[in-house]
Amino acid sequence: LQTCSAESSTEKELTFAMIKPDGVSGNYTTAIKKIISEFGFGITNETTVQLDEETVKDFYTEHSSRSFFPGLVRYMTSGPVLMMVLEKANAVADWRALIGPTDAQTAKVTHPHSIRAMCGLDLQRNCVHGSDSPQSALREIAFFFEKSSLGFLPKHDEL
Ligand code: GDP
Ligand code: MG
Repeated sequence: LQTCSAESSTEKELTFAMIKPDGVSGNYTTAIKKIISEFGFGITNETTVQLDEETVKDFYTEHSSRSFFPGLVRYMTSGPVLMMVLEKANAVADWRALIGPTDAQTAKVTHPHSIRAMCGLDLQRNCVHGSDSPQSALREIAFFFEKSSLGFLPKHDEL
């Protein structure tokens, strides 16, 4: 049956995760890393950085025309962030499921055990980032990390 292809479901995948400024300053890093480990993700790369405006604008370019964009840039440059490459089978979808919906207030109601429900404050200050697709994961990992520093190259190799 095509629906039980063991090959695709066990193949390791990379995703890009970030603990945003409110998560770092709120001291959620240890708790979030514990969840990452408990759910079977490996952290292959990590770095803490203070993002500048230009980098945030480029990273979030898909949202550049939105009214919340200037606020998003201010928020994302308000303090250091922890960026990580996570490795696991189905890493992209599983990390998105674990962080929960974008709006942390919604998350508290609909996904109370999600990371955003636990650590996030509102629609903007939602504590964590996760790539929304394998294509986004490739772009975002390549945006911040050297290809040569990665343990393996993702299957859809566009880095
Ligand atoms: P994500 O993929 O769940 O992080 O959500 P999006 O890609 O849609 O948005 C990127 C980030 O912009 C979110 O994580 C929030 O920090 C912020 N954001 C998204 N939508 C809004 C909004 O309507 N208002 C505000 N203030 N911030 C938003
Ligand atoms: Mg997004």
